[in-house]
Amino acid sequence: MSQDINCDLMVIGAGIAGMAAAAFATARGISVVQAGLATTTMFASGCFDLLGVSPEYPGRSCEKPFEAIDALRNVNSAHPYARLQNDEIRTAFDEFLSFCRESGLEMHCRPEVNMHFATPVGTVKTTYAVPASLLHGVHALSSQTPCLLADVKGLKGYSARQVAFMLDGQLPVTDVVRLSFPGFEDKADVYVRQMALAMENSRIRNEFVARLLPHVGEAQAVGLPAMLGLSRCREVLRAVQDGLGVPVFEIPTMPPGVAGERMKLALDEGLRMRGVRILNRRNVLDVQVLEDGFRLEVGSEWPEYVVQSKAVLLASGRFLGKGLVAKRTGVEELLFNIPVSQPESRDKWHEDAFFAEGGHAINRAGIVSDNDFRPMDRQGKPVHENLFAAGAILANQDWMREKSGTGIAVCSAYHAVCTLVRNLEFKQSGE
Ligand SMILES: Cc1cc2nc3c(=O)[nH]c(=O)nc-3n(C[C@H](O)[C@H](O)[C@H](O)COP(=O)(O)OP(=O)(O)OC[C@H]3O[C@@H](n4cnc5c(N)ncnc54)[C@H](O)[C@@H]3O)c2cc1C
Repeated sequence: MSQDINCDLMVIGAGIAGMAAAAFATARGISVVQAGLATTTMFASGCFDLLGVSPEYPGRSCEKPFEAIDALRNVNSAHPYARLQNDEIRTAFDEFLSFCRESGLEMHCRPEVNMHFATPVGTVKTTYAVPASLLHGVHALSSQTPCLLADVKGLKGYSARQVAFMLDGQLPVTDVVRLSFPGFEDKADVYVRQMALAMENSRIRNEFVARLLPHVGEAQAVGLPAMLGLSRCREVLRAVQDGLGVPVFEIPTMPPGVAGERMKLALDEGLRMRGVRILNRRNVLDVQVLEDGFRLEVGSEWPEYVVQSKAVLLASGRFLGKGLVAKRTGVEELLFNIPVSQPESRDKWHEDAFFAEGGHAINRAGIVSDNDFRPMDRQGKPVHENLFAAGAILANQDWMREKSGTGIAVCSAYHAVCTLVRNLEFKQSGE
């Protein structure tokens, strides 16, 4: 027997676009049901990109994302950012950051300016907002703070020595050290999730700090792999800093690390507190488009819930999220059968050169929408006045190359929700 649920908005997707849409909608008094898996979010670095590369200088990171967005509009009028004014982008991002704070996820940004932090391979990544655990690393890079970098015996894919070597000249490293993690001394392999959980135990944490302290020496900050707690990261970070007597920062580990899980845990809790009905680890299996709304069957394998909703926001991602599926004959969106903008044949998906300057056409495939992010049908008309799309599933953007993943997700979700609010108010006042 399936359970019936009624709501104003069904959000399909539990990635950043889906979570942002649910937060924006509840703030405006709209009842929300959300379904989806945590897949892509688990791979994320925990940072929020807005636009990290300007089309004027491809392949180089940019300092001023809003100037880069202006340039992007000039060269790509079909880009999702071209449907938005900069002030709306600012408002959307600010509101999302407030929701993060309310959920216990402390994010930091320097308004209007991008930030830079070290990656696990020793390169420097550009982003717009970082979690508190990365903040001192951003300061260390920009102010050339002498740092100690540490790693852990048995941790694969992360080497403090390699990070220091690659960052040579960009970050003064006083020393690198490899420590045994308390309790895991005999293990050939250790994992960041295990260590992050263990660091929430004060006895283990104190022992780890005691092993690290003698190496601090002249260093004015200490960089560790991202392992400082899972849901209690703030508390762990503070305790480690107090124990070492210098600022401490994390360097993200190779995905999947703990940063994505931390973000998901916090934001899901924030959404629950706002009253979102989260159908965790459930997919929308089937949809019927009705004249005045939608009927959706939701479950893992069979329909456990039947949701009647006035509106739907499709935030099901691209290939990793499974919003788009690549078949031999082309790329398809399977839930609503919305046409997908894509290269005319498979042999045009990729350029010959892997690092082709303009990227690969397949990475710009997606759903074409009107200016309010309503997907278009084959006749070029909105599929339904209250069906919206947001995030990676949108066409004409290459978020990975542009470094715009969270920005596009959050801002398209914001605009779609604001349009929905107007539609619902208009309907109410007309009745
Ligand atoms: C390795 C990696 C690193 C990244 N690093 C960064 C970074 O540093 N900064 C940044 O800003 N962004 C980063 N991103 C991008 C970011 O995580 C998001 O992918 C991006 O913002 C788009 O999010 P989205 O919500 O549109 O889609 P996704 O995150 O792909 O989410 C899609 C959601 O839809 C759900 N779904 C699909 N089909 C259905 C269905 N039938 N029913 C219900 N649910 C369904 C999926 O389960 C999933 O929950 C990274 C991504 C990856 C993969």
